[in-house]
Amino acid sequence: MSDGGPAPVTGGPTGRRVVVTGGAGFLGSHLCEALVARGERVVAVDDLSTGRRDNVGALEDHPAFELVVADVARGIPVAGPVDAVMHFASPASPPDYLARPLQTLAVGSEGTRHALALAASHGARFVLASTSEVYGDPEVHPQPETYWGHVNPVGPRSVYDEAKRFAEALTMATHRAEGVDVGIVRIFNTYGPRLRPGDGRVVSNFLVQAMEGRPLTVYGDGSQTRSLCYVDDEVAGILALLDSALTGPVNIGNPDELSVLELARAVVALTGSSSTIAYEPLPTDDPTRRRPDITLARGELGWEPVVPLEEGLRRTAAFFTAGTPRGTGGRP
Ligand code: UDP
Repeated sequence: MSDGGPAPVTGGPTGRRVVVTGGAGFLGSHLCEALVARGERVVAVDDLSTGRRDNVGALEDHPAFELVVADVARGIPVAGPVDAVMHFASPASPPDYLARPLQTLAVGSEGTRHALALAASHGARFVLASTSEVYGDPEVHPQPETYWGHVNPVGPRSVYDEAKRFAEALTMATHRAEGVDVGIVRIFNTYGPRLRPGDGRVVSNFLVQAMEGRPLTVYGDGSQTRSLCYVDDEVAGILALLDSALTGPVNIGNPDELSVLELARAVVALTGSSSTIAYEPLPTDDPTRRRPDITLARGELGWEPVVPLEEGLRRTAAFFTAGTPRGTGGRP
């Protein structure tokens, strides 16, 4: 076969350098891991406010990985080449962003401005982590990307919803005005290992409560719905967007919809727990239903989720069983 030259690289290092803001967070750390695994160099930038150094503990000695501890709302201190910027820094759990309203608005506005400027100065592709929360409490169901949403602009959740809506607007304006190559992903509820046990989101709350034999805290009557995507599926969709030329926005989520009460029952059954259900007040402006229309992702990215809920919950439960430091916040 060869003349003795180097073998062709198949899936080896590409030499690209990717900056991931929020890289020590739940989703960001899985993204960093996937990028390093496929041969990219990764710089995670995180202020460790809701992210955890532990999340990237397994990467910290890897020569292709660095962690820069910084608040991206104040600037992104990354020197050297940059081939892509993925802006994933933000509190994402409702108790976290409700406890940090001004920081959430700052990272969605100033943080996005800095991340876009970094991409622009290097001619790098920019990927914005947006959210199904831009649809608010949706009046169109399931939600296609063409739906403009139904958001309360002055309610407590607006610190997250409007920060992300502004981030989308800033991203599109920078794309139009400066020609920056951008992609916007609207992330629907995602779960998996590395959710903080105390982060307050429904899957971590229910699993931890069931495993400890405590009542599962169902907010409202539990009839509100969500569509839960396992983190490996979510990351695969986000990488497909990174690798494409699609601007989006594009929904990446699992269209399998279930009510919160159904989820509680599934968690009790899966863990074999004797936990009961405790009903608690529904948070203000909690969306009644949520389900992504993923026609665009299927057609343009060839992506769809493959991990069924039961399997994903099993893997997440195994992570909590293995033991992990308690987080703060939430009301599990
Ligand atoms: N929820 C619940 N019990 C909990 C945590 C959350 O019933 O212990 C509900 C919450 O009211 C919402 C859904 O589960 O309707 C999903 O909440 P989560 O905080 O995970 O994310 P959201 O989709 O609201 O951003």
